[in-house]
Amino acid sequence: MAALNSADALQVSGLRKRYDDRDVVAGISFTVPTGTCFGLLGPNGAGKTTTLRCCLGLTRPDGGKINLGAYDIPADAEAARQRVGVVPQLDNLDPDFTASENLLVYGRYFGIADATIRARIPGLLDFAGLGGREKARIQTLSGGMKRRLTLARALINDPDVIFLDEPTTGLDPQARHLIWERLKQLTARGKTLILTTHFMDEAERLCNRLAVLDNGHLVTEGAPRELIAAHIEPQVVEVFGDDAPRWARSRNGLAERLEVAGDTAFFYCRDPAPLLAALADAPALRYMHRAASLEDVFIKLTGRELRD
Ligand code: ADP
Repeated sequence: MAALNSADALQVSGLRKRYDDRDVVAGISFTVPTGTCFGLLGPNGAGKTTTLRCCLGLTRPDGGKINLGAYDIPADAEAARQRVGVVPQLDNLDPDFTASENLLVYGRYFGIADATIRARIPGLLDFAGLGGREKARIQTLSGGMKRRLTLARALINDPDVIFLDEPTTGLDPQARHLIWERLKQLTARGKTLILTTHFMDEAERLCNRLAVLDNGHLVTEGAPRELIAAHIEPQVVEVFGDDAPRWARSRNGLAERLEVAGDTAFFYCRDPAPLLAALADAPALRYMHRAASLEDVFIKLTGRELRD
């Protein structure tokens, strides 16, 4: 099977999907260069999973064009999927099989010879930090191990592009860091990653570029640092405590922008010195001074309202 072979691993143009008379993906466009990591961010219901499913040919779009490398999706989806790996949101490993049997069975779906799969398994388990666990039953693996095994499974066909739907949700910090290291190694080897995540630190560390979706619309797209520079003042001072909102509103002029949420006041500023001086005179208040982050961009663009 030929590699996807293209400067851009994925091109999405004017993608549209309707459910129940509502555009859940409302004409979005983005391009993912080969060998990079691209993030799809957005609150619940923004249309991320629908977008991924359309790119994989699992959901039929109502409009637009998708190219996965040289393949047209959905027309050539079956052929394209031979070159693609998928890490779904929920682990769907087969509990009746061992770790290596899970990889073997999955590899057979791609029509790969058993001998080839068996030759790949030790290297993939090593890569996933599961060396020596060939015979482990799925129930005996921790959540982090299962995620890593799912990642190893997604690599069984040596894919060019790997789609990951919330790859570290539910993992402890150690397990997340290990997954991040492995994902970075994959892009260093020239693989293309397309992931969804709710973790802004994850997106900031892993993604070369990312898009923020909201209500089916792409609200911004770019490199994490570019987005922070474009949307947010560089310095943030968070002041918290019962008296913080009242205190903050009376010092509104000390920052370019002030937002109050619950008992926290967020001052967004270019020069924090006058605000920090004022805080030095208010020892009862607690505060944190930090650089602007992707989370600030996300909240500014998609709001603070809960989405269920
Ligand atoms: P996200 O992954 O960003 O949370 P989804 O793509 O899962 O968002 O969902 C976007 C919207 O589309 C949601 O309002 C969801 O309820 C709706 N939706 C998704 N799949 C279907 C479906 N098969 N039938 C009807 N509505 C759907």
